[in-house]
Amino acid sequence: MTSLAAPPRTAPPARSRRRLPGWTAVPEVRWAAAALALFLSGGLVQLLDGPQPLAWALYLGCYVTGGWEPAWAGLTALRERTLDVDLLMVLAAIGALALGQVFDGALLIVIFATSGALETVATRRTADAVRGLTDLTPERATVLAGGQERQVPVADLAVGDVVLVRPGERVPADGTVVDGGSDVDQASITGEPLPVDKVAGDEVWAGTANGTGALTVRVDRPAADAVVARIAALVEEASATKARTQLFIEKVEQRYSMGVVLSTLAVFGAPQLFGEPLQESLLRAMTFMIVASPCAVVLSTMPPLLSAIANASRHGVLVRSAVVLEQLGATTVVALDKTGTLTDGMPAVVAVRPLPGTTGEELLALAAAAEAPSEHPIGRAVVAAAGSPLAPATDFRAAVGSGVSATVGGRRVAVAAPGPDDAAVAGLVAQEQADGRTAVVVTVDGRPAGVLALADRVRPEAAAAAAALRRQTGAEPVLLTGDNAGAARTLAAQVGLRDVRAELLPQDKAAVVGDLQRAGHRVALVGDGVNDAPALATADVGVAMGGIGSDLALQSADAIVVRDDLAALPTVIALARRARRLVVQNMVIAGTVIVMLVAWDLIGTLPLALGVAGHEGSTVLVALNGLRLLRSAAWQAAARDAGGDGVAGHGAPAASPPG
Ligand code: ADP
Ligand code: MG
Repeated sequence: MTSLAAPPRTAPPARSRRRLPGWTAVPEVRWAAAALALFLSGGLVQLLDGPQPLAWALYLGCYVTGGWEPAWAGLTALRERTLDVDLLMVLAAIGALALGQVFDGALLIVIFATSGALETVATRRTADAVRGLTDLTPERATVLAGGQERQVPVADLAVGDVVLVRPGERVPADGTVVDGGSDVDQASITGEPLPVDKVAGDEVWAGTANGTGALTVRVDRPAADAVVARIAALVEEASATKARTQLFIEKVEQRYSMGVVLSTLAVFGAPQLFGEPLQESLLRAMTFMIVASPCAVVLSTMPPLLSAIANASRHGVLVRSAVVLEQLGATTVVALDKTGTLTDGMPAVVAVRPLPGTTGEELLALAAAAEAPSEHPIGRAVVAAAGSPLAPATDFRAAVGSGVSATVGGRRVAVAAPGPDDAAVAGLVAQEQADGRTAVVVTVDGRPAGVLALADRVRPEAAAAAAALRRQTGAEPVLLTGDNAGAARTLAAQVGLRDVRAELLPQDKAAVVGDLQRAGHRVALVGDGVNDAPALATADVGVAMGGIGSDLALQSADAIVVRDDLAALPTVIALARRARRLVVQNMVIAGTVIVMLVAWDLIGTLPLALGVAGHEGSTVLVALNGLRLLRSAAWQAAARDAGGDGVAGHGAPAASPPG
C-alpha cells in the first residue's frame, strides 16, 4: 500500500483502527489458489502416468473451487435478466468437459479464477487507498481535566475538552492550540509536504502528525464532523460514483453480450452446414465466446479515474465524483475569481479616508460594528483593523457581492461597493482605485461618511498557475471579480492575465460562465464558495479554493483545493487528463486483443487455452494499467505536465508567457 502521509519523525503514530487486509484475506484469492493447486496436482498425476480417475477427480475439484463463484454470480445475474460474461466462461469450461477436454477446461477455470482474483485485488487497492484516509485518526486521546491525564476514545471527545498531543503523536481532533508549540505535518489533509508551525491560537486538524513539540489543544469539533472525516466521506462517495463513459459501456455491454451469444451459435452452426466435425465447431464456438467477451472493456474506465481521485485526495485536492474528474480533464477554459482565489483572501485595510465631520477612528469603529457578523474577507479585514471592543449592531443585512448594513447606536450604517449615489466620495474612491485598491464606502443614515481602502496579497504562485492553465487549455484564463475595474486591472497585470471582467454581481459571474459555455467551452470556475455559488453551479466544474475551514465550499463545489495552493489546480487537471488518456489506452488494448483473437479463431485455429490466456491477460493488464495513477509519482508527473510546481507547493518559477 502506498503510504498516505510522511510518517512522523519521532514516535510511531497511534495504531490505526482498521488494518488493511493482506491479499491472502481476499476470498477470491484463496479459491483461485485452491483451483491452481488442484490443477497442478492433476497435471502431475497425468505426467507421472498415475491413475486416470485420480487426475479427473483433481481436475473436477479444480472446476468446483475455481468455478462455483462465477457460476453462482452468473446465475444470480440471469435471474435479474442480465447476462453475466462470467457465466459464458463457466459454460465454455463445461463444454470442454463435455468434449472430453477436461485439461483444457480446467486450465480455463484456473486462468479465469486467477485473473478474477487479481482484478479483485486491484479494485480493492483503490478502495483501501481511499479508506486509508480515515485510519489516520488515532483511536484514543489524552484528555487533561483537573490536573489529571485520562485516556478516552476519540469518539467520546466533546467540544471544549482539552487534550494533550505529545511529540510524534497524531492530533486526535479538530481544535485550537491553547498552549505549547510545535511543527505539525498536515500532509494527510492538505498534501503539503512541509510541516507548519503551530502556537497558541492556531487551528489544528485531526489526523495530522505532531512533530517535535507538545501541544495542548481545545477540541472544537466532535470526531464525526472533523475535516478528515468529511474528506474521507467525500472521497468514499466519489468512489461509489460511475463515470459517464462507464455508464455508457455498461449500457452497451448487455446488448453486446447478447450479440456474442447469438454469434457463438452462428459460429457453431454455420460450419456444420458444410460438414465440419461437431467437436471442431464446438471448440471454435466456445473459444469465440470467450475471446469476444468484453471483460477488459468493462474494466477500462473506472480504475484509472478512481486511482486519480484517490491520488488527488492525498495531495490536497478533493474531487467529488468520477464524472467531475472526467470533466476536469476536458476543461477548455478556466475562469478565476479574484478575492480568495488569485489573492490569499486576507485583505487588509490600508487607508481610512473620512469626510469632514467624522474622524478616522469613528469611521472605522462604525464600519467594523456593522461588519462584525459578516463572513466576507472584507468584513473580517475591517473588524481586524478596528480592534475591539465593537459597539453592538442589530438588524444586520448582507447583500451578496455588494456589501452589508446594520443599525449601530440608533444609526443605520452601510459598508458597500461604491454606487452612483456616492458622488460626495467619488474623488476619494477614484484615487484609491487608481492605486489598485478595493474601495468601500461607509454611509451613515444614507449619507456617505468616508471611504476605506483595502489591499490583498497576490498568491505567490498565481502567475505561474495562470500561465500553466493558459498553456494547458490553449485559452486565456478569465478573471471574474465583483471588485472595481482599477483593482482588477492592477491585479491582472501582476498575474499576467488579459481577459478581465470586473464589477460583476454573483449572478453576472454565472452569466459570463454561461456565455463561455455557449461559445463551446467547457468551463472550470475557481471561486471561494462564499459568494460564487451561482457561478460554481453553472460551470462544468466548480472548484473551491482553500476549503479547510469553510463549510460552504464543501457543499457548493465539485472539487476542492484543500491546500492553499493554486498550483494544485493545473496539476489536478493534468492528472485528470492522464486518467482520460489511460482510459482510451485501455480501450484500445482491450479492443485490439478482442479483434485479433476473434480473427485468429475464425480464420485460423486458436487453441482454447491460448484464447483464454489472451483474453484474461488483457483484462488483468487493463486493470493494472489504471492502478498506475495511484502512485505518488503519477501526481509528480502530472505536476511536470502542467509545467508548474504542484509538488513543493510554493516558490514556483514564473512560467514563460505563451507564444
Ligand atoms: P470578488 O469577486 O473579488 O470575490 P465579491 O463578489 O466578494 O468580490 O465582492 C464584490 C464587491 O462587493 C467587493 O469588492 C466590495 O466592494 C463589495 N463587498 C462585498 N462584501 C462586502 C462587505 N462585507 N463589506 C463591504 N463591501 C463588500
Ligand atoms: Mg470572492
